[in-house]
Amino acid sequence: MPGFFIPNKNWMRKDRIIIVGGGLAGLTAAIHLAQKGQKIILFEKDTFPHHKVCGEYLSREVKPYLDDLGVQLSKLQPKIIDKLLYSTLSGRSVHVDLPLGAFGISRFALDDLFYETAKENGVEVIQEKVLAINYLENHFKVITSKEEYLADFVLGSFGKRSLLDKNLGRKFFKEPAPWVAVKSHYRLKDFPEDLVALHNFNGGYCGLSRTESGDINMCYLATYESFKQHKDPGKFNEKVLRKNPFLDSFLAEACPVFEQPLTIAQISFSKKEAVEDHVLMLGDAAGLIHPLCGNGMAIAIHSAKIASEEILKHIEKGSSREKMELAYRQRWKKTFSGRFTTAGWLQKILLREKLAEVSQTLISGLPFLLPKLIKQTHGEPIE
Ligand SMILES: Cc1cc2nc3c(=O)[nH]c(=O)nc-3n(C[C@H](O)[C@H](O)[C@H](O)COP(=O)(O)OP(=O)(O)OC[C@H]3O[C@@H](n4cnc5c(N)ncnc54)[C@H](O)[C@@H]3O)c2cc1C
Repeated sequence: MPGFFIPNKNWMRKDRIIIVGGGLAGLTAAIHLAQKGQKIILFEKDTFPHHKVCGEYLSREVKPYLDDLGVQLSKLQPKIIDKLLYSTLSGRSVHVDLPLGAFGISRFALDDLFYETAKENGVEVIQEKVLAINYLENHFKVITSKEEYLADFVLGSFGKRSLLDKNLGRKFFKEPAPWVAVKSHYRLKDFPEDLVALHNFNGGYCGLSRTESGDINMCYLATYESFKQHKDPGKFNEKVLRKNPFLDSFLAEACPVFEQPLTIAQISFSKKEAVEDHVLMLGDAAGLIHPLCGNGMAIAIHSAKIASEEILKHIEKGSSREKMELAYRQRWKKTFSGRFTTAGWLQKILLREKLAEVSQTLISGLPFLLPKLIKQTHGEPIE
């Protein structure tokens, strides 16, 4: 069904599929659907490329699927990470091999690669902020800062928290969102390429790993309660992070690349629905997994694949919208909910100093346990 566009406020453009949000989830769905012959409009409020707060550790489970989509990660020459160093606040540490491993790759380069691939596949990316999504009589009205659009399907890939969540009356939006996250890049010669380090501090944890540029990404998650006493990341680094001996020596030696770190607040890990008012939610919009697992990007990409497949099935078979929505909900739950549960437990352990020390002792004695736990928070390679 070709779209048509009449640039008159009284008329609206009608498209089959609109995707709201051009992060990894939205761009993956756009590429997948465009390759299957669908005409896709994707709205993204920001320009490309841009930095994002993220650990920049991309689980290797996505590789076969991205190869199929023609998203050529190798073009960016990411670092190959297959070792983990975990340390507690007191500086006790354990070193293990990772079962599947990851790519060390910046969001600046990664999201831009997806964006360019989407454009090459004919996706129309419009830089506009979506203000509202309304479902009316088997179609959607999508209202942006400039226009109103009609569509048969809308995919919601607008990330962990947006005013759209409020407008859609989503329950999680009213619940506390007590976390802040900070990210910055650093230069330091003496840091292995194949390592991701996860260091505990009071009120949070911090990940360190190299990206394709050779810079080291430092990204941490902290409770707002602990962060608010110091307010700015510089003071927080000095007073809180540097109590962990590993972070102390890293921050003493490493040179910051960014003028200012990126900071985001109001992060919540509350449960969300995978379908809301007939919008299929992708990536963080369907649920944010605790970042210590390093699996959020893979889940964003995988959820986009599942939603795309269900929409295509629905279009081909002419099944009811309700059936498609139910199938998506069920596949989402079956594929991801176990990972969310394990991640929730791990985060609870890590944030309780005594439990973190006890678990560290256990893992030092039985080091094969940690890769097994990590496996529970990751998926198999996505075919
Ligand atoms: C501190 C922290 C560290 C993390 N570390 C890792 C890690 O190391 N590895 C990992 O795999 N995952 C990690 N994650 C999770 C990962 O960042 C996310 O799961 C992933 O980015 C989700 O992708 P997404 O496409 O759903 O959302 P996003 O990447 O957030 O994209 C959403 C997009 O929607 C756009 N948007 C929002 N509202 C609108 C609107 N109204 N109109 C138009 N556009 C809009 C935004 O501009 C944005 O580009 C981390 C998360 C946090 C908080």
